[in-house]
Amino acid sequence: MEKRRVAILGSTGSIGTQALDVIRQHRDLFEVELLTANNSSDLLIRQAIEFEANNVVICNEAKYQEVADALQPHFIKTFAGMKSVCDLVTSDRIDIVLTSMVGFSGLESTMAAINAGKAIALANKETLVAAGELVMKRAAETGSLILPVDSEHSAIFQCLRGALGNRLERIHLTASGGPFRTWSKEDIAKATKAEALKHPNWNMGHKITIDSATMMNKGLEVIEARWLFNTPADKINVVVHPESIVHSMVEYADGAVIAQLGHPDMREPIQFALAYPERLTLDNRKLNFAELAKLTFFDADKEKFPCLGHAYTALERGGNMACIMNAANEAAVAAFLKDRIRFYDIADIIGECMEKADFIQCPSLEDIYATNRSAYALAEGLIDKTRK
Ligand code: MG
Repeated sequence: MEKRRVAILGSTGSIGTQALDVIRQHRDLFEVELLTANNSSDLLIRQAIEFEANNVVICNEAKYQEVADALQPHFIKTFAGMKSVCDLVTSDRIDIVLTSMVGFSGLESTMAAINAGKAIALANKETLVAAGELVMKRAAETGSLILPVDSEHSAIFQCLRGALGNRLERIHLTASGGPFRTWSKEDIAKATKAEALKHPNWNMGHKITIDSATMMNKGLEVIEARWLFNTPADKINVVVHPESIVHSMVEYADGAVIAQLGHPDMREPIQFALAYPERLTLDNRKLNFAELAKLTFFDADKEKFPCLGHAYTALERGGNMACIMNAANEAAVAAFLKDRIRFYDIADIIGECMEKADFIQCPSLEDIYATNRSAYALAEGLIDKTRK
């Protein structure tokens, strides 16, 4: 593989740090051109020095001077603000952009990279949830290759390499079921923040961990799969698989199912995207099937996890509905993390927002930004009214 010049947007988060761990194991194959972070200045400085990054952006402008002063002796250029991310990501010196920032805020810089025709290692699923149709259309126009980093979508992408031109019949999207899989609805209703943050298999950031507990994460992934693989919602089946060994599966017309397996370790899909189509060595745990002995599968319970139903409804309605749903979810999860609302309030607030927000059948990108703002504000109003 020829050396690849990488930009990591959100380098101090869970995916960003694991991506740098992948790069640490193959320093000869990757050059770090750009690192960006919102607030974590200390870690950003350490990463920039270790990986000899050429450029760094700290989005929080109040922390610019601290980062600039620390990196100046190392001849690393420092910038501040989201506008700098959008400018720098278009540089000719970048081959691939890993989008690992959290939430809707990732859309603007992801679009800037797509407009510049960059290959995208897509870890920011909210980008496709909020604006999937527009994002995929633009990527097709600019020739921007979208490589999924989400473990399920990386699995589906890998399973599709063997399609030989045949259309897939169904996607089986696996879900761990989260920490409340075996809990009763009554107990889930009383779940605390600490209990919701205890994910059984994956070690992730707070937002996605709460999304896993509500199963909204799987809902977001259904929408992500719809756009990445151009597959209608009724051909995307969620199957609960508590061991998280089968990362997802693809079914063909003859009923043959191809699966991708591995221990849960995000570095594998990250590395697959960064080195695609090559496979590199990785110091991860390899599967021992006799030790695994058995794998289990269950239907998803939409009664216990209404957020999953919200996602299918959003796809059915189309237009800006998934953007409304995503904005309401971001507001509600932030409120839950601040102990302002109870667990099931998250789903209720999302449902109410989807009923009350202004629906647009064919939104432009500007409509999507406006929808995100207004739906977030609408959800905030509902949160104030329902606070526990
Ligand atoms: Mg996932």
